[in-house]
Amino acid sequence: MNKPCIFCEIAAGRMDAEVIHQDEQVVAFRDIHPQAPTHVLVIPRRHIESMTEIEAADAELIGHMHLTAKRLANELGIAESGFRSIFNFGRDAGQTVWHIHLHLMGGRSMGWPPWPGN
Ligand code: 5GP
Ligand code: ZN
Repeated sequence: MNKPCIFCEIAAGRMDAEVIHQDEQVVAFRDIHPQAPTHVLVIPRRHIESMTEIEAADAELIGHMHLTAKRLANELGIAESGFRSIFNFGRDAGQTVWHIHLHLMGGRSMGWPPWPGN
């Protein structure tokens, strides 16, 4: 049997996470290893492995993930100071969980471009 996807487990409420928002389409929760004072992950409830899997019919869902990030940036007080919204896809980008997730990060200044160490 395949190992259950941890983000599907969190979305279904079978695994603990500090959930800060949920609706019919997405769940947002705090990253377990935060890389910034505010580090939240926004995931679709539906299991999608990578950007390479998305289709035209997913446009509204992907847009909703961004609108959720914008709303949370406001609520968490990082909209004015600035924030990153990042998707990592595939090996070179460092994707470690194969269920797409938007990283919402803020509360410190961040380097650019994202060479190793940034
Ligand atoms: P990726 O490297 O795939 O873009 O990001 C995966 C993120 O998921 C990492 O920042 C990691 O800390 C976070 N993460 C992995 N497992 C868990 C978990 O069980 N709970 C939570 N809240 N975050 C997790
Ligand atoms: Zn999943």
